[in-house]
Amino acid sequence: MFPLNPWRLLMEWLCCDFHIHSTWSDGRLTINEIVGMYGQAGFDVIAITDHLLDTASEIQYTGSGRKSGCMPAERFVDYRSELWQAARTAWENWGMLVLPGIELTNNTSRYHILALDVKEYISPDLGVEEILVEIRRQGAVSVACHPYVRNHSGDSPSEFLWENHERFAQMFDAWEVANRDDLFNVVGLKKFNYIANSDFHEEKHLRSWKTLLRCEKNVESVKEAIRKNDRVSLFLYRGGKIRQ
Ligand code: ZN
Ligand code: ZN
Repeated sequence: MFPLNPWRLLMEWLCCDFHIHSTWSDGRLTINEIVGMYGQAGFDVIAITDHLLDTASEIQYTGSGRKSGCMPAERFVDYRSELWQAARTAWENWGMLVLPGIELTNNTSRYHILALDVKEYISPDLGVEEILVEIRRQGAVSVACHPYVRNHSGDSPSEFLWENHERFAQMFDAWEVANRDDLFNVVGLKKFNYIANSDFHEEKHLRSWKTLLRCEKNVESVKEAIRKNDRVSLFLYRGGKIRQ
């Protein structure tokens, strides 16, 4: 007979998704719809990370009559309040943690950075180092988004991060080694700290790469588990209930 392992009893693997967009930016579902969907599926931790866009790109998009699909800076406080409310509902109804997040989206200089458990507005016009310092000052977690993804025209929205990955390697708390259906082998070979996320924009994106963390289910333990990155695993979610 195997000896009883108290560690195993105390700490289950938590099923997590740290990169989700709602109708606050270019996602199709509201925060409440997202929380209901992930809660029902049995997820333990999610982060809502709507886009904040750099000023030059904002002017370029809106100037040409397009919607930027990003949250205006002045709406950040309302966004954060809605997230706090959603976090309470998620915990009461599903026992699921919701981290307030943002995706700092700089399409002019080409970097996308997640800030998880963010408290105050951060401008995506800042340089990468300045953003990382600010994320750390707030006790939040920084993630380099889709560092190796290529769109149809061959562009990478986080090209600047990958071009400078040696310099930034240790400055980020984690790098996305998988984003939705895409698994970045070249990033995985670097032995950085890793997580995997859906980059959720619509319902079908729920079926995608996710992160498993082995830690207690509270915000500080989850952040510490990402930073330490010694009990982390990738998980390809294909639908259905995670817990009975
Ligand atoms: Zn992005
Ligand atoms: Zn995204």
